[in-house]
Amino acid sequence: MATDLNTILDTQRKAFTAARPEGLDVRRDRVKRAIALLVDHADPLCEAMSEDFGSRSHAQSMMTDIVGTVNFGKYCLKHLDGWAKPEKRKLQFPLGLLGAKAQLRFEPKGVVGILSPWNFPVNLSFGPLMQVLAAGNRSMIKPSEFTEKTSELTKELVEKYFSEDEVAVITGGPEVAHEFSSLAFDHLVFTGSTATGRKVMESAAKNLVPVTLELGGKSPVVLGKSANFEQAGERIAMGKMMNAGQICLAPDYMYVPEEREEGAIAAVELGVRNMYPTLLDNDDYASVVTDRHYDRLQGLVADARDKGAEVIEINPAEEDFSSTNSRKMPLTILRNVSDDMQAMQEEIFGPVLPVKTYKNVGEAIDYINQRDRPLGLYYFGDDAGEREEVLQRTISGGVTVNDVLFHVSMDDLPFGGVGPSGIGSYHGPEGFREFSHARSVYTQSKRDIAGLAGFKPPYGKATEKAISGQLKK
Ligand code: NAD
Repeated sequence: MATDLNTILDTQRKAFTAARPEGLDVRRDRVKRAIALLVDHADPLCEAMSEDFGSRSHAQSMMTDIVGTVNFGKYCLKHLDGWAKPEKRKLQFPLGLLGAKAQLRFEPKGVVGILSPWNFPVNLSFGPLMQVLAAGNRSMIKPSEFTEKTSELTKELVEKYFSEDEVAVITGGPEVAHEFSSLAFDHLVFTGSTATGRKVMESAAKNLVPVTLELGGKSPVVLGKSANFEQAGERIAMGKMMNAGQICLAPDYMYVPEEREEGAIAAVELGVRNMYPTLLDNDDYASVVTDRHYDRLQGLVADARDKGAEVIEINPAEEDFSSTNSRKMPLTILRNVSDDMQAMQEEIFGPVLPVKTYKNVGEAIDYINQRDRPLGLYYFGDDAGEREEVLQRTISGGVTVNDVLFHVSMDDLPFGGVGPSGIGSYHGPEGFREFSHARSVYTQSKRDIAGLAGFKPPYGKATEKAISGQLKK
């Protein structure tokens, strides 16, 4: 496998080098083909995702994986010319007057590796691909082994729409993933867990491959006293139930005013009941992706219960989950949680929602600041002072105010984490720059600049004058 991977990388890099300079039309054509692939095969891709999950809503897959990604491709097409335009930069006085020029060009890096996870298998491989191609690169993609059918179909379709020296898909498990992350790419984009991200960065470091790491973490919700609780409850329920909580940005735990805990929980419960009157045979509600993840989530709940948490299962139709093997799990709220519970230590990534209470919002801020910087942070409330206090005293990859998740769907906002929740970002103009090399080009004046500036040996009076002139405060 290693030689195969290296052969593909070598072929892509040679093709990339030979084709330069490539016009923007070639990039546009590639982005359009990626869009066409998704539009032409939307249904089979959604079916494959549903089979991989056990059950996953066709409508949800269409929205999160197909439409969202197609729209992002269109956004890239719309802005490509502007993003790719070289920028004129300022020169120190009086170099400009003497005919020197400074320019910044955004050039493709070469071959970009994309390692993607299972939770939004199409979005998280084709999303980065759209911008990688817009920036003029070639790409090798290694999709997740957990969504085998989707990954196989992706490979088949990419082979139809692209030549192997443009885009290639490599399937396989963690061993292949490890080999993949050890390749001497020109850039590597990884989306997945923080633990795997660490390994990926280690492998990439051996070849000094620059990385974009889109990781996870515990994204908190802070419910302010001024929040519209009913609306907040519904929005939190929607964000937590979508894809059965298997979203990197899913609200992980909720921090609520002590005296309004019951109301906050009731609001989430009402949201669940209104949107999901039943769960087991309801196609709108996804299954947990594998038995291993299902057992892990059950383990988090059992551990919390053992350590004293109150467990509230929101099961609107009182269905019997124990007699099925559908891996569906009702939203499970945990009250009275403590830091020694696993649910408060690891990213939940499923339909479990711990609730913490505060007397003063400063406690929530301190709690967040004492932990890894999260990928997302959510504040609900109309109190602008409190909102700014929460935003200005915490750090997170991104923020949505008065809802959850939404910032990721704004094409023009960069999306990424900070520290343990990620490095770098894509989407927005920042994503184009992430996958481009910003190359400085300075063109010298015809005049003897070094001589005029006193840089030219033999050093003498002109040099001394230049130095003392610069040292003035
Ligand atoms: P994961 O880290 O287990 O796997 C992601 C990818 O890494 C897969 O393709 C896998 O084959 C590969 N991989 C596994 N072992 C590897 C190794 N040793 N070296 C290199 N690659 C290896 O993640 P997952 O379970 O598929 O996804 C869930 C995680 O992803 C959650 O933590 C979630 O928060 C995160 N996530 C982040 C984002 C984001 O955009 N920030 C989006 C979705 C998911």
